[in-house]
Amino acid sequence: MTLTGYVFHPEYLWHDTGTSAGLLPANPPAGIQPGVHVENPEAKRRTHELIHAWGLLGELAVIEPRRATEAELLRVHTLKHIQRIKAQSDLRSGGDAGDGFSPVGYGSYDIARLAAGGLIELVTAVAHGDITNGYALTRPPGHHATADQAIGFCLFNNVAVAARHAQTELGLARIAVVDFDAHHGNGTQSIFYTDPSVLTISLHQANCFPPDSGWTHENGDGDGTGYAVNVPLPPGTGHAGYLYAMNQVVLPALDRFAPDLVLLAAGFDANVFDPMARQMLTADTYRTMTGLLTDAADRLCNGRLVAAHEGGYNPWYVPYCVRAFLETLAGTTTGVTDPLAAVVAGYAVEPLSPQQQAVVDEAADLVRRIAMASTPAVR
Ligand SMILES: [Zn+2]
Repeated sequence: MTLTGYVFHPEYLWHDTGTSAGLLPANPPAGIQPGVHVENPEAKRRTHELIHAWGLLGELAVIEPRRATEAELLRVHTLKHIQRIKAQSDLRSGGDAGDGFSPVGYGSYDIARLAAGGLIELVTAVAHGDITNGYALTRPPGHHATADQAIGFCLFNNVAVAARHAQTELGLARIAVVDFDAHHGNGTQSIFYTDPSVLTISLHQANCFPPDSGWTHENGDGDGTGYAVNVPLPPGTGHAGYLYAMNQVVLPALDRFAPDLVLLAAGFDANVFDPMARQMLTADTYRTMTGLLTDAADRLCNGRLVAAHEGGYNPWYVPYCVRAFLETLAGTTTGVTDPLAAVVAGYAVEPLSPQQQAVVDEAADLVRRIAMASTPAVR
């Protein structure tokens, strides 16, 4: 019997990204009209409300987040980076995390700590066996943030902080991070680039964000050579391409590595309606990919799979993608009909293209660089 943990907190919606024009800071003198930042609370607010309204919440083990301590952040981030975020967060009018595109609202430092701490609590509950797996609907997101740099709306790398906590405090030595956000999980990759104890696998749209990042030749360095795997899928990749990547790259890599814990950077912005990428996934793709990942976690590490919400910017479709994901994670169904399924049905039958296959096959060749785990697969 699967018990799935769920982390959410209203403060996640209070991270104030200000009056931007989509990506750009508002700048009336330059003709950039003030509007809503693309990373605003709406998609996640609606997702949480619908999880509740659909009756899913009652089937989940609700776990209260706490704020990650500075010491916990320091396992991943530099003191200079932490202090910069705090200083920007102390400004009453808000600031920027460092790249000019990542607003820091007044008080966002504490909210970002609550996001990282939420994932720590979830990983802890999984390690203790209180729950089988879990999902944290956190904000701000984390997977672009490097040790010393906030990038792409991400302040602290929630998944990386949780991975180090699991290794340091919970006895889970080998961590696999799977990232199916539409954008490259560059921050997580860079933090663990020379570390063979953390395998990072990112499926993403090629050369989307960050620019010129996430190519297959980025394969780890030093002792970590082979333990960073990238699948830069062409724009327009849909259900068939992502499933081919799961079956040819992600699952064989997980089987070779035999992790103690699978962390999932669960971005939902590869959905077909998303404004921030050009992929073609449907809710059904998320359902199928999640099923493959939960099967792998069952096979390899007693089901220990912990997901952190990353991107996902279409406020009316992301909740349906999360529903498909969360139903599969929890092994349940709401019985709610997806009103958009008929609209996107045609996208889901898009065949695998030769370009997509070539990229996946190139990444699949790299999987054998991951040493076969010497420990038994099921522990
Ligand atoms: Zn993204």
